[in-house]
Amino acid sequence: MPIAEIITIGTELLLGENVDTNTRFIAKLLSEEGIDLYRTSTIGDNKERIAQIIQEGMTRSDILILTGGLGPTVDDPTREAVALAFGVKSVFREDLWEQIEERFRLRGRIPTENNKRMAFAPEGAIAVENRVGTAPAFIMETDSHAVIALPGVPREMENLMHSKIIPYLRKKFNLKYIIKTRILHTAGIGESIIDQVIGDLEELENPTVGLAAHAGQVDIRIAAKAQNKSTVLSMLDEIDIEIHNRLGEWIYGKDEDTLEEIALANIANKGFSLAVIESGLGGMLIQSIANIKGTFIDGKVLPTTPNKPDIVELVNNLISDEENVIGLGVFLQPGAEKQTLSIVLVTPKETSVTKHVYGGPPKMAPRWAINTALDKLRKL
Ligand code: ATP
Ligand code: MG
Repeated sequence: MPIAEIITIGTELLLGENVDTNTRFIAKLLSEEGIDLYRTSTIGDNKERIAQIIQEGMTRSDILILTGGLGPTVDDPTREAVALAFGVKSVFREDLWEQIEERFRLRGRIPTENNKRMAFAPEGAIAVENRVGTAPAFIMETDSHAVIALPGVPREMENLMHSKIIPYLRKKFNLKYIIKTRILHTAGIGESIIDQVIGDLEELENPTVGLAAHAGQVDIRIAAKAQNKSTVLSMLDEIDIEIHNRLGEWIYGKDEDTLEEIALANIANKGFSLAVIESGLGGMLIQSIANIKGTFIDGKVLPTTPNKPDIVELVNNLISDEENVIGLGVFLQPGAEKQTLSIVLVTPKETSVTKHVYGGPPKMAPRWAINTALDKLRKL
């Protein structure tokens, strides 16, 4: 299995002006291909330093994927840096220049003199045509290594990764396996209980099962490796069903599903709307559901937590006899050692008040409170 590194290039990344999203995107694709990623780094627009990190990287890794610094300006140093690392010249390539002229023609523009910089590549490089942007990408290849330089613009990089680089890597490194992951989301059950229930599955080697705890939610991550997609998917399905059999209704969704969406969809499916009152959460509950259309009709944030008998009245006042409206009150009472949470749920059928105690990191208490409340809506 080849080992890879990702190197993102750009001083603006080091200055914190731009967020590096390219690493995450590439890392995910590599893991799906079964390529081990051992290291990622970010470096400024400096030819010598980039060359040095390429040379170091090649002693550790088989594949280096670089993004950024392929533009037409003097401060785009990647071509020169790769040439320096390989001890070759950066040479003008007619074929690249034709690609660049073609791209400009398609946009009804004529390239300027400095665009010629983009037609340079290290001597011996494999050119990779960029059909989304103007800067061509390239690969420097040895028997054992591939150093791949891609544009920094995410849309261009993503297109090239999918259409050119992954197929190239599959061939060059004879990649036989694909890896797919699925995340099952649970709510209302703690990590240690899940661990007890599915601990034996966590010891499997393929597929693998792992846990990641968040405030009031635990994710179960399944990853399977096989030679083709249908085998991988059926491996995932099999373990998915087994986990569902054991944890049943604790699981609220998978992958991109959010507790907010699932909870509000449940309310909507039952023909209800939702009115919410909150305190101690800094408006976070209302914020997290405000964009989910259709169900949420009214929200109120109270500065401080009111006293006991009041909280039911507050929720009743909020829904004021309107039909088919569910009223939810979430009141988090801060405390030095533990936070207490009261959840009021008023439906046309019944009114319930539940108390919960939180002992985790105080900063996470609002998120925990929100997830605890949403979990009640989901199960309604
Ligand atoms: P261009 O031809 O546009 O100059 P380039 O290959 O030279 O492309 P950069 O100049 O390094 O790439 O970056 C262009 C833009 O792409 C940046 O302004 C930034 O918005 C985005 N970008 C660069 N690197 C990253 C990254 N690692 N993650 C997310 N966005 C990035
Ligand atoms: Mg640039």
